[in-house]
Amino acid sequence: MRFDTVIIGGGLAGLICGIRLAKQGERCAIISLGHSALHFSSGSLELLGALPDGSTVVSPADALDALRQMAPEHPYARYSRERFLALAAEGATLMQEAGVATFGSAEQNHYRLTPVGAMKPAWLTFEGYVHSPNADSLPWKNVALFNAEGFLDFYAQFLKDEMLRMGTKCAAYTFNLPELEQIRQNPTEMRSANIARIFDKRETLDKLADIIAAKMDDAEAILLPAVLGVDCKDGVRYLEQKLGRKVAVIATLPPSVPGLQVQTLLRRYFQELGGVYMLGDTAVGYKSEGNKITAVYTRNHGDIPFLATNYVLATGSFFSGGLEATNDRICEPLFGADVQYVADRGEWYDRDLFKPQAYESFGVKTDELLRAMRQGQVIDNLYVAGATLPGFNAVKEGCGAGVSILTALDVAERILSKK
Ligand SMILES: Cc1cc2nc3c(=O)[nH]c(=O)nc-3n(C[C@H](O)[C@H](O)[C@H](O)COP(=O)(O)OP(=O)(O)OC[C@H]3O[C@@H](n4cnc5c(N)ncnc54)[C@H](O)[C@@H]3O)c2cc1C
Repeated sequence: MRFDTVIIGGGLAGLICGIRLAKQGERCAIISLGHSALHFSSGSLELLGALPDGSTVVSPADALDALRQMAPEHPYARYSRERFLALAAEGATLMQEAGVATFGSAEQNHYRLTPVGAMKPAWLTFEGYVHSPNADSLPWKNVALFNAEGFLDFYAQFLKDEMLRMGTKCAAYTFNLPELEQIRQNPTEMRSANIARIFDKRETLDKLADIIAAKMDDAEAILLPAVLGVDCKDGVRYLEQKLGRKVAVIATLPPSVPGLQVQTLLRRYFQELGGVYMLGDTAVGYKSEGNKITAVYTRNHGDIPFLATNYVLATGSFFSGGLEATNDRICEPLFGADVQYVADRGEWYDRDLFKPQAYESFGVKTDELLRAMRQGQVIDNLYVAGATLPGFNAVKEGCGAGVSILTALDVAERILSKK
């Protein structure tokens, strides 16, 4: 099988890179093992929420100079303010084209409500999610919060307490439906995606609307866990129309229903553009000649090679198997690419769980053009994008999605500019 570009990893970075390339007419394949970090998404994409010294970022673009000084190896450090904003704008546009409706801008962070009621800086929040321009208040003074009876992956009491602390009175209710009874027969089935599936049917949303209408009283907004349908994308809008009130959802514990939806929408868009998505396949081997990769082999395709002019490594970090740790070293398991990490194992992590963990910043070494290195030499046609890159801490700096999207677009442009 011959392509212009083969991308290994079908998470946010792989998909965005593939979409950008396919839009330019490149023949592109994505080999994707399975779940990506999107399946755990909070409902918001983060660009830059904090600097490495812990200070909060209001405007990601304005914070670039300080970031460059504190973390010269951060993936953003290679971008001027203009380039950073242009890549972010392009990323937001691609999302929109794929059918992912979002709110937000790269010029100024807004705040999303986490499942435990904290407010965190965000770049793009998926439509229908609770968000606020302020870090310490919500847009309403009086809300009603509804949770499915027996759904334990949603902490209504935490949310209620935290909202009260922010000056928003919150009345909490549970609701039950015959459709929920079926799922509840097995406690392990009471998970967000299963609950969301029952709301793919309009009749179930109608029943929920009736329950809410009977209890909502004078609440300015109705808040729910993010479970209003998997295939159905307009559950929030539908309820709003039925109730005549503002309706918004809050992230649950994983699996993330909006994350599943976004992954599906991006994949469909990539396929509509002519891209080939090998779902459930794993890249397991390669051939190289000199400093070039000439073929990639996968588990499902055996000795049939994936041949391409360029390859993109978007296999994520430890979480997705893009990096692996042994007792004494960190490696990139597919190509054996060089990894940037601290040699002393004792320095890989801090016993204080809440401190930045060094291992979170480990990743595959690249040159300025984002090409991977092996034994100190650049691999000419192997680019790296997303969470596989070193030099940043997605959790502490709140920059995971931003790094994935911006570097994926950057890599795509570098590949296109070679022609
Ligand atoms: C649990 C979790 C939650 C997060 N939540 C958020 C959030 O809410 N907002 C935010 O901004 N950021 C979040 N992040 C940060 C996240 O890293 C980025 O947002 C981004 O989604 C990462 O995308 P990626 O494509 O670089 O990597 P990944 O999403 O990790 O995708 C890598 C993909 O490569 C596949 N793969 C790996 N090896 C192979 C192989 N050999 N062959 C084929 N496929 C392979 C994996 O199966 C996976 O699908 C989260 C990260 C984690 C770990």
